[in-house]
Amino acid sequence: MRQDEHPMGGGTPPPDAWSAMLDDDHPHDECGVFGIVAPGRDISRLTFFGLHALQHRGQESAGIAVSDGRHILVQRELGLVGQVFDEPALRSLTGSMAIGHVRYSTTGANKWDNAQPVARSFGHGLVALGHNGNLTNTDELRAELEAEGESFVATTDSELVAAMLAREESTLLDAACRVMPRLLGAYSVVCLSETEMVAFRDAHGVRPLCIGWLEGGWCVASETCALDQIGAEFVREVRPGEAVRITEDGVESRQALPPARRALCVFETIYFARPDSRIDGMSVWQVRHSMGRVLAEEGPAPADLVVGLPDSGTPAAIGYAQASGIPYAEAVVRNRYVGRSFIQPDQGLRQHGVRLKFNPLPEIISGKRLVVVDDSIVRGTTTRKTVAMLLEAGAREVHLRISSPPVAWPCFYGIDMPNRQELVAAEADVEDVRRAVGATSLGYLSPEGLQRALGRPAERFCRACFTGEYPIPVPDASVKLRFERSRVISAGA
Ligand code: SF4
Repeated sequence: MRQDEHPMGGGTPPPDAWSAMLDDDHPHDECGVFGIVAPGRDISRLTFFGLHALQHRGQESAGIAVSDGRHILVQRELGLVGQVFDEPALRSLTGSMAIGHVRYSTTGANKWDNAQPVARSFGHGLVALGHNGNLTNTDELRAELEAEGESFVATTDSELVAAMLAREESTLLDAACRVMPRLLGAYSVVCLSETEMVAFRDAHGVRPLCIGWLEGGWCVASETCALDQIGAEFVREVRPGEAVRITEDGVESRQALPPARRALCVFETIYFARPDSRIDGMSVWQVRHSMGRVLAEEGPAPADLVVGLPDSGTPAAIGYAQASGIPYAEAVVRNRYVGRSFIQPDQGLRQHGVRLKFNPLPEIISGKRLVVVDDSIVRGTTTRKTVAMLLEAGAREVHLRISSPPVAWPCFYGIDMPNRQELVAAEADVEDVRRAVGATSLGYLSPEGLQRALGRPAERFCRACFTGEYPIPVPDASVKLRFERSRVISAGA
């Protein structure tokens, strides 16, 4: 057994074990991307701060690629942005264009080879690439490329896209437009050659990608919070199916793919995106606040206090409190400085139920009936721990309210979500889930309530993890595989 295979016996624990230790049962976004063209500006430092704003989208590796017009330099490493880059590193990354990437591993292990930006030979130089999303035809593309002599060191679909671009003998923008029709699934990509920076997005616009202007240049980022961080102004979103070449003079656009059904990941609005970002014209904070207000109408509860699980449950908890008239209280403190690159506790600490992420305030909650608002329940394991933690701290009742519908289907578009059998709500009704997590009562936001809070038609979003209706074809084999794999694991457990 490799050291990193054992769940608790040493080495790097697998994602489930991390989630349990971090009290974190949320699905995780796969990546965040950033790109900038700004001659005369300190582009590596601006990219560093852009990535810092996107750190919530991936905490396992970070990387920056810069071009000075003649050469590309890439630095990438496992760890948080602030761990990977220091002053000397940023000073050595000079140029006029840069792309950056933060990663959370969902396809491919957390190893250096899978850190991004990835780089491949392109013409007489290189192409560097960062990708957020997940392709659904990776196996076919990889087999085809390998049959034609390509080899890969990473296990991610990002290296595949870089290899496809590198095979085109043209400008990077032309290469992107030729490659995009062959990619199925979700992708928001930034890429860089010595002379061009290009960004492109899948035809459904599953993952966000926006364009900003700043003095001396232009930039692209997964979320608007990265533009805010570097003093850039939001200009517009990269349109679904669009490829853009960014130069210091502006944006050259090509509609590489015909318009398709919009399918923005609704979970970006519920949990993934930072609350101070705007996506598709929506303030993420305001949408979450509205979800809480609607949740209060749909799931009233007799309680003394409304408590949000920080940080993702907070806007909805405030909305719930305002709509219900029940006072809001901060009763759980979150340690913001733990992540998946955190040193793991030893066996003794684990056995004593170490709580790395949340700690309750007994002075606030003792003897109180609580409405506890969270954004989602995935496996239910950490929700059960959280409910138990609040009851142990003296809460009289815990009325759990979830600001999304039950998660019952896995994600194939770039989100780290367990197979169906591990999702607590996959085959269970609300009462079963309530019993499983030990809450006094449980209420979810209804699908209709979610749409009311979003103020947009359901058809604009991907909601497949709630409905099982996948807007982009998912290979039957991979759905089946997830079932079969989970059955094998449970049979062997
Ligand atoms: S399946 Fe769920 S998490 Fe995945 S893209 Fe669709 S809405 Fe987002």
